[in-house]
Amino acid sequence: MKKIFVIGIGPGEESYMTPAAKEAILASDVVIGYKTYIDLIPHLVENKKVIDSGMKKEIERCNLALDLAEEGSTVSLVSSGDPGIYGMAGAMLEVKGQRDSTVIIEVIPGVTAVSAAAAVLGAPLMHDFTVISLSDLLTDWEVIKKRLHLAAEGDFVIALYNPKSKGRVTQIEEARDILLKYRKKETPVGIVRNAKREGEAHMITTLDEMLQHPIDMLTVVIIGNSNTFIQGNKIITPRGYAL
Ligand code: SAH
Repeated sequence: MKKIFVIGIGPGEESYMTPAAKEAILASDVVIGYKTYIDLIPHLVENKKVIDSGMKKEIERCNLALDLAEEGSTVSLVSSGDPGIYGMAGAMLEVKGQRDSTVIIEVIPGVTAVSAAAAVLGAPLMHDFTVISLSDLLTDWEVIKKRLHLAAEGDFVIALYNPKSKGRVTQIEEARDILLKYRKKETPVGIVRNAKREGEAHMITTLDEMLQHPIDMLTVVIIGNSNTFIQGNKIITPRGYAL
């Protein structure tokens, strides 16, 4: 069948991968994805052609997947977390549209980083929340700043993906300064690195002190709303129940 599965394998630990994701990988002839992730699931890729996508740019990867599917292979394109959240699902569908291809594309959802990180922290997302990527590689920084202002003004809990890399260090500082215009210095902040995979670590801090802790590209930062509080070693955003 001419088919591509765009699969989210979750945060990394195999127990957080859905059975549907596993079935799709098992049903594929070719698996395209980062070696680091595929190395976690060797038993699922036995006898399959594995292409390490570390070597290829996103659009090249989608074109390759489509070429292989057009030739008759069933292909799995693997993303971490959920493929529809800063993953490969959008680009894959766009490339298919541009090439006017009849290959069937099925998106398989996965546990995204913010869900995994929230579980580590307790229950910080219990009310309306927003996810903002601080990466300005594909999005203008002005647009990102505007979204930070509006999300803060709207009192959303805010989760930051791609918060800081070696070459991108000022964005997290600017983001915090924007949030401080709307929120108290004591606002709870959770920083989770490698949520639900090897090397998991987390820190519960405040908006005032968050920059004193290590933040990098393996980290999600969750900033509470005006009602979020810390109880013991957990962060809770109340839903509003009368206790
Ligand atoms: N598709 C992925 C997100 C890709 S963007 C998903 O749905 O999770 C990459 C960013 O996601 C990283 O910079 C980091 O901010 C976050 N991330 C992904 N996995 C993570 C994990 N296990 N723990 C903490 N952050 C993670």
